[in-house]
Amino acid sequence: MLAIFAIACNEKKETKTSSTELTAEEKTDKDNIKKIFDSALTNGKSYEWLRDLTTNVGGRLSGSPEAAMAVKWGEKVMKEVGLDSVWLQPAIVPHWVRGEKEVAYFVSKGKKTAMAVCALGGSVATPNKGVMAEVIEVKSIKEAQALGEKATGKIIFFNRPFDNTLINTFRAYGGCVDQRTRGAATVGEFGALAVIVRSMTNNIDNYPHTGTMQYGDTPKSDYIPAAAISTLAAENLSKSLKADPKLKIYLRQTSENLPKEKSFNVIGEIRGSENPEKVIVVGGHLDSWDLGDGAHDDGTGIVQSLEVLHIFKMNNIKPKNTIRVVFFMDEEQGGGGADAYAHAAKLTDENHLGGLESDAGGHTPRGFTIDANEGNTKLLKAWKKLLSPYGLHDIEKGGSGADIAPLKANHTTLVGYRPDSQRYFDYHHAASDTFDKVNKRELELGSASMASMIYLMDKYLENPDSIKQ
Ligand SMILES: [Zn+2]
Repeated sequence: MLAIFAIACNEKKETKTSSTELTAEEKTDKDNIKKIFDSALTNGKSYEWLRDLTTNVGGRLSGSPEAAMAVKWGEKVMKEVGLDSVWLQPAIVPHWVRGEKEVAYFVSKGKKTAMAVCALGGSVATPNKGVMAEVIEVKSIKEAQALGEKATGKIIFFNRPFDNTLINTFRAYGGCVDQRTRGAATVGEFGALAVIVRSMTNNIDNYPHTGTMQYGDTPKSDYIPAAAISTLAAENLSKSLKADPKLKIYLRQTSENLPKEKSFNVIGEIRGSENPEKVIVVGGHLDSWDLGDGAHDDGTGIVQSLEVLHIFKMNNIKPKNTIRVVFFMDEEQGGGGADAYAHAAKLTDENHLGGLESDAGGHTPRGFTIDANEGNTKLLKAWKKLLSPYGLHDIEKGGSGADIAPLKANHTTLVGYRPDSQRYFDYHHAASDTFDKVNKRELELGSASMASMIYLMDKYLENPDSIKQ
């Protein structure tokens, strides 16, 4: 009882102190942000939209029939929200197929040990009977480059783990992911037979994590298959290699790159009441990997983005500028949707005032990163006093997101939504990225955080034409 009383007193004191520091305009903003959060947490639809998408469409690789279903789904839900207009924007996307279930094991002293494995997106197949070879373990691209002819006829095993001392797990991912994206291109020219990569996660578990890889300018004759194994399998393989450097890995996969496909971004908007020609974009990506149902990556981002416009409608907020939601296609395998959107915006010389992207999972909101000129960075950082009561403490300079980043040339103020990152790479690109891992309240707090950011951007952002860079 006493403890409850003490908390109540503190709350009262806090409200009083902070409200005395607010201008009249900021008090209006404070009230509107409260309304935004109240409506998201009581009448939000994002969680049910996500249930529908993940259950009835599931994983949706670019170019796949599921991605085409997701486009139809996106169009339907946008129309249900009652936006001023909804349309599809054509985009050309890759069409990679995983094929049959991959097989990998190692053989040491006559004993076979199975490894949890998945092909990497964009990888070619092994020969139909698979490949079997001795293994060289490396920890970096540099180490792989130094192998030269030693790599000929071998399977190269990239095994640099996440740096667990980094608090932001995206930085740990960034410090390792070159092994996945560039590993095969690095050793293909030396005549290596295949590449096996440790999965991109902090966790030691038995889920292999897929993700894109590129051959770059490697000649086609040097393309070699690339697969990821679980971190548990990687630890075991590394230990076994120390005991038996002659052990052999077997890998078989039938993945294939098919001709590119026509697909779509799904777009909807509420037209601006004062400046309909000025646009603020909010979005995430509609495609996903195929192992799970693409819940955190990036189902949460797209339902939160649509919820922003739904929250505006529920609260009768009439934006000054046009607020546009975009479900981008093909973030995972090359950004065909982002390119199509930026290209169309350039062709029509569309005035993009700002953009906000959610592609970092649906966990508890922490803040935003800002990619803007100095003046607007300062402007956005000052909103911390309005946003911090909702746990949005981290509002700092930084990147926005892969889908809106191409708009940067227009001097647009770009913002990335930043939820807590600790659990994201448990699920990222793995079979464990499923609807049950998303917490309804965390998802809704994210939608409200994004709606508050868009509300403030709409009210205070200047015309980019008038901004001195
Ligand atoms: Zn993503």
